[in-house]
Amino acid sequence: MEPRLAEAHLGGLLSQLGLDAEYVRGEADTLWWRRPSGDEVPVVDFVGGYGSLVLGHNHPEIVKHAQEVLRRQVPVHAQFSYHPYANDLALALNRVLWREFDTDEPYSAIFASTGAEAVEVALKHAEMARGARVAALREEIEAHLADAPAELAERVREHNEDRYDAPPVFLTLEGSFHGKLASSVQLTHNAGYRLPFRTLAVQARFVSGGEVAKEVEACRVTLLDVQDGGLVERDLPVIAAFFVEPIQGEGGIHVLDTGVAADIRAAADAGGFPVVVDEIQTGVGRTGAFFASSHIGLLGDYVLLAKALGGGIAKSAVTLMRQSAYVPDFELLHSSTFAKDAFSCLIGSRVVELVEQLDACGRAAERGAALESALRAVQADFPTVVADVRGRGLMLGLEFHDQSGAAGPVGELAGQGLLGYVLAGYLLNAHRVRVFPTASASHTLRFEPSVFITDEEIGQLATGLRAVCTALRDNPFALLPG
Ligand code: PMP
Repeated sequence: MEPRLAEAHLGGLLSQLGLDAEYVRGEADTLWWRRPSGDEVPVVDFVGGYGSLVLGHNHPEIVKHAQEVLRRQVPVHAQFSYHPYANDLALALNRVLWREFDTDEPYSAIFASTGAEAVEVALKHAEMARGARVAALREEIEAHLADAPAELAERVREHNEDRYDAPPVFLTLEGSFHGKLASSVQLTHNAGYRLPFRTLAVQARFVSGGEVAKEVEACRVTLLDVQDGGLVERDLPVIAAFFVEPIQGEGGIHVLDTGVAADIRAAADAGGFPVVVDEIQTGVGRTGAFFASSHIGLLGDYVLLAKALGGGIAKSAVTLMRQSAYVPDFELLHSSTFAKDAFSCLIGSRVVELVEQLDACGRAAERGAALESALRAVQADFPTVVADVRGRGLMLGLEFHDQSGAAGPVGELAGQGLLGYVLAGYLLNAHRVRVFPTASASHTLRFEPSVFITDEEIGQLATGLRAVCTALRDNPFALLPG
């Protein structure tokens, strides 16, 4: 047998859980699972590429467009040249943003390939902008010191000196998930993902939703200045940005409270730092609006998109930054071989067009309501098993009551954070339904199908979930693999 070299360890775990299916074809919300016998078995996919498949697997219009782009021999990699297709996509995204937020301020776009990369762009840009704010303040204070008595000026300089170099503070909410690269993972609350790499980059502060103003205040670092002959305190711009998801995805499908969103916006406006709205999972129509933050009136200074922007076939991400917060020189410092390539930009523009033409937002709201009512019916029938159903549009979660106290292997697996994966294995093998838990809250199953999910497919999920609930209540052993 050939050696297994591509994440064989993970493959072993998947196999133990009955999740090592090989999918050989995908269309809309169906994946075909090739069994060892050679048969291809259809599976309904509620994972939806972890949010990338708003339009489903291999949407025919996306595939046709991709084929056409390749047939025309469009140069995919023509870096450092004029990129009208990138501008077209940026403009298309701006038009939707202007409409949903009733604004007309342009947002500049830095493209990338993955969600975590869009987060890294935001982190770097925010720090560059903060650096400029610190430098401007330092210059202003120095100008005042030039006219101040020498001894006073010396005292002020001594006090301020080290503080100018204080590291930035990035704020985000408890439960957040913003990626797994070296810096972005510091904004991901899950300690298992974050702590092994805490020495690599600046640590974020995780804020509880009710304590935004208090936490911002706790970050305060003051400098001294001399004004009108007397000492005064000035605030060092220490907070680089506040990152927030309109709906926490990997943290367990938690919709951001409108009041918390307003607190974040107000704190940022008062403190002069940007709000980075991470729409990487929520964006591109999934929640019933192109930007989920528009439901709660939270306009970010930076807005991040990825996942579904690539139409399920391209790798694409973008960091949009409002022009008044944008540092053009950033473009000279940040780049990637793969960013802004013609293929992903052309696909992205077609995605935006299709989302509009197909009324994907309206469909997400309507299909989401159908899915949510099916999940609520399961909850109503199994109140001792299902703790909660929540989310918006086609980004829904079903939380099981904590099973870690249960006797036997199910309790043990729940204690190890594996319950959701065990249930996923059962649902796949016994009901041909593909689901997964959220990454950081493993007893919450997430449902993110495409806007084309049918009533019949929702019914298949509900049947499987009822079987899961019955077993969890009466005979958990029935759920164990093999
Ligand atoms: N931000 C959010 C809100 C996400 O859900 C994810 C991925 N689950 C990311 C960032 C990271 O995206 P990627 O996996 O493309 O790096």
